[in-house]
Amino acid sequence: MQGRIIKQISNDYTVELETGEKVVCKARGKFRNMHVSPLVGDIVLIDYNNKYILEIEPRKNELVRPTIANIDQAVIITSVHIPNFSSNLLDKLLVTIEFNNVTPIICFTKLDLIDDSYRKEIDRYIEYYKKIGYKVYLNTDESIKEIFKDKVTVFAGQSGAGKSTLLNRLDSNLNLATGEVSEALGRGKHTTRHVELIPLLGGLVADTPGFSALEFDGMTNEDIRDNFIEFNLYRQDCEYSDCMHKNETKCAIKEKVESKEILDSRYENYLKFIDRK
Ligand code: ZN
Repeated sequence: MQGRIIKQISNDYTVELETGEKVVCKARGKFRNMHVSPLVGDIVLIDYNNKYILEIEPRKNELVRPTIANIDQAVIITSVHIPNFSSNLLDKLLVTIEFNNVTPIICFTKLDLIDDSYRKEIDRYIEYYKKIGYKVYLNTDESIKEIFKDKVTVFAGQSGAGKSTLLNRLDSNLNLATGEVSEALGRGKHTTRHVELIPLLGGLVADTPGFSALEFDGMTNEDIRDNFIEFNLYRQDCEYSDCMHKNETKCAIKEKVESKEILDSRYENYLKFIDRK
C-alpha cells in the first residue's frame, strides 16, 4: 500500500494512506544499510499487516532544515513592519528556494501598518517580483486560499513576520499552538522539534518555522547566479557564456540594471551574495 509520511517521531513514522487512514510504521533496517532514512513528505510503500515501510519512492526534492521531502512550494512571509522589509532576506530566500527545486510564493504582511509613501515603495517591489514571474499575495487577499490545494507547502520568513496570524485566518480550526510557541520562543528551540504535515485547505503544510538554511549551504556562486531567475532572460547577450555579471565588460545584466529593467536591489543583493556578505 502506498501513502505519504506525515509525521516522524524517532523510528515511528505516521503514514497517511490514500484512503485517509493513518498507520504508524517502522523503517526497515535495509534503509540504514542503504544510508537513506525515510523523511516526512516521502511517498512510501508499506507492509500494512506488519507495519513496515518497504520502499521509498524517488524524491523530487529534499530540504535539510526543516528535514522534509517532496515539497511543492514555499510561501515566503514578508513583513514590511517589525520586522522591517528586507529585500536582502527576500532575495536570499528566493535564491535558496529556487535552488532546492521548490516553487517560491511571496506573501506580504502588515501592509496596514505603513504610511502611503512607504506603501508606494513596497508596491514597486511587488510589481517587480510579479513581473519576473513570481506569484505575490498580500496576506489579506482571499485568493491566497487557493494555492494550497493538492500541494505540500512550507513557510519561510522571519519570526514575527505573521505566519501564525495568516494561518489562523486561513483556517480558524487549525491548531497552531505548537507553531505559535515555537515562533515565540525564537530560533534556538526549533531544531529538536519533529516535523509534521498538517491538512490545510485541501493540501498539506509543514508545521515548522520553515526555511532557516540561509547561508547558501552547498551552493556555488554559479548556483546563486543561476537562481536569480530574471538574469537568465538576458544572459545569452553577455559576452561570455560563463559571465558572472560582475567585472566583465559587455555584460547584459549590468546593462539591464542601468536601464532599470532589473531592479537595483536585486543586483546589489546578488553582488553581496556572491561575495558572501
Ligand atoms: Zn553578464
